[in-house]
Amino acid sequence: MSASDVVGAAPLSPARGVDDVVLGIAGLRAGYGRIVGVDGVDIVVGRGELVVLLGSNGAGKSTLLRAISGVISPWSGHVTLEGADVTGMRSDRLVQRGMAHVPEGRRVLPRLTVDENLRLGAFARRDRGAVTTALATVYDRFPALAPRRGQKAGTLSGGEQQMLAIGRALMADPRVLLLDEPSLGLSPLLVKQVFEMVLRLREDGLTVLLVEQNATQSLAIADRGYVLTRGHVTAEGLPSELRERTLSDGFVA
Ligand code: ATP
Repeated sequence: MSASDVVGAAPLSPARGVDDVVLGIAGLRAGYGRIVGVDGVDIVVGRGELVVLLGSNGAGKSTLLRAISGVISPWSGHVTLEGADVTGMRSDRLVQRGMAHVPEGRRVLPRLTVDENLRLGAFARRDRGAVTTALATVYDRFPALAPRRGQKAGTLSGGEQQMLAIGRALMADPRVLLLDEPSLGLSPLLVKQVFEMVLRLREDGLTVLLVEQNATQSLAIADRGYVLTRGHVTAEGLPSELRERTLSDGFVA
């Protein structure tokens, strides 16, 4: 089966039922030097939605998240956060405005302890009491981290490091969370746990834009989804609609 058999060229339908757009991406182009990563992407994420962005290696998923969260500057197009134009805004300012990004590959600081890594996520918060409460909430949410709070992050398992990376993002008390392939490199059991945890975040009211290659499991928890192919959105819809476009092994070509 070729990629074109899977993602096809179905006409894009408007995002149905999204009336309170928290994150709006319009005509976004971004890349690296001469390399085009995303080329005119339109995406909306409504308040409290869990939206999955599917696509194969090199489709531009990480580039899109980087351009939204200020890790790289978009070449053109717009990003709005709760109605405000935040295109090209620096990451630290976006964190202060309620957007957090958990990059692919976790990127925890291996020589720092679990506790120190988590506190870094609260860099923008002045209220020490609120930081202490946030720490307690993260340990509550990820009980495996609590007994390891003094342990160096580099000694944690892959699954624990993923929990730590997400916990660190939650320390900023975001309203919108961008998650880049949290299941990458984890065992099937841990993948299941990570997806359950993402679903809990959504149930707790967080708005989530989840990047994944694992279509089967991410569509099982998502409200809606998009498929990105070579920098373009080639499909959009409800999980039931997108499921038909995925390969039998659960990955999008
Ligand atoms: P993956 O699942 O493998 O991370 P992806 O869908 O996230 O794939 P991107 O990483 O966004 O895809 O890559 C989109 C394009 O940009 C690819 O052609 C890739 O080679 C290129 N690219 C990504 N990161 C860089 C970089 N730091 N410098 C140069 N080119 C890059």
